[in-house]
Amino acid sequence: MRLFHVKRAVEEARPRTLGRHQNRRVGTHVTDARSAGEDSLDDMARRTALLDSIPDVDLDTPLAAQVATDARRHAVISGSSFARPTQTRVFTVANQKGGVGKTTTAVNIAAAMARAGLTVLVIDNDPQGNASTALGIEHGSGTPSTYDVLLGGSTISDVVQVSPANDNLLCVPSTIDLSGAEIELVSVDSRETRLREALRAYLVERSRSGLPRVDYIFIDCPPSLGLLTVNAFSAAAEVLIPIQTEYYALEGLSQLLKNIELIRAHLNPALTVSTILLTMSDTRTNLAREVASEVREHFAEQTLRTVIPRSVRISEAPSYGQTVIGYDPSSSGALAYAEAAREITRRDAPSSTTTTNQDGQV
Ligand code: ATP
Ligand code: MG
Repeated sequence: MRLFHVKRAVEEARPRTLGRHQNRRVGTHVTDARSAGEDSLDDMARRTALLDSIPDVDLDTPLAAQVATDARRHAVISGSSFARPTQTRVFTVANQKGGVGKTTTAVNIAAAMARAGLTVLVIDNDPQGNASTALGIEHGSGTPSTYDVLLGGSTISDVVQVSPANDNLLCVPSTIDLSGAEIELVSVDSRETRLREALRAYLVERSRSGLPRVDYIFIDCPPSLGLLTVNAFSAAAEVLIPIQTEYYALEGLSQLLKNIELIRAHLNPALTVSTILLTMSDTRTNLAREVASEVREHFAEQTLRTVIPRSVRISEAPSYGQTVIGYDPSSSGALAYAEAAREITRRDAPSSTTTTNQDGQV
């Protein structure tokens, strides 16, 4: 792929587009042959400068190499099947640090798995409702939601929606109502385990009604360690921690791990940090490489080989109510999330964890 063609297109278009604009700018001053001639010389100079500013690219450049690599990755990932787990695997996607890619990770891994044929449920457990937005799910105030499951006596079946992107991608939406839940939960019974009970009942109900088993569940958490996150930790067997490859990446991680230990001790002995995913990585920088190697040093087993690059396509997708998997499946960001999803399906659930089975038994 050579930009040579782009150059020629610019060159050909120049008299018709930029030239016309030039005349309009000059307006009534273009009154005689002399001034028109001056404009056209000016035009040529501008065009030469413009063409000189376009870098030449040929097949040996990093860009072309990247395109070729991505095409290969796309061919591989779109042809590979994702294994179904023996039991439903439930992940809480958590990190109390804000903006590290929790929601992006939850929805894109879920979407990649659903695209590969698995049945996947995303529970939006964050009052911001970003996961619902990215999955194209209605979540205006008053929509039946996670809030109703935690505090309104609704079942998950009452509130669950199907993503327009995929019939086997389900979502329990979150609305702004959930922002009051942290406080309202404080005074109710079983305040830490309400989500777990609701999930258990839902899986049993699906099984009894003959609906396909849910293969993976991802619970998207807010950037805090309050009761909403505690409910998510109680409901899951595995924790997926997205870590942004930046300077403060590991700050706060020890607090998160301490909280997980407390949950294990008091509420959910099965809980394990099974998966760490490096996100928003700019692999050209030394810093990203250093952070990645530090994380791998501390969490060798848990850290996925796949690293999610920083990508404009990933950040654009939610504004179209889509995941990047649906928005631009052949982009490098979508490929990375699909590869991360496949890696998760190829790793067994940790032996110390117990996943929720078809009958909702833990
Ligand atoms: P919060 O703590 O507020 O819930 P979060 O941890 O869920 O945030 P995201 O919402 O997933 O983080 O991501 C934060 C922002 O970064 C979003 O605007 C998202 O689109 C963008 N983003 C996430 N991953 C990438 C990426 N790989 N490349 C570019 N932008 C990204
Ligand atoms: Mg989020």
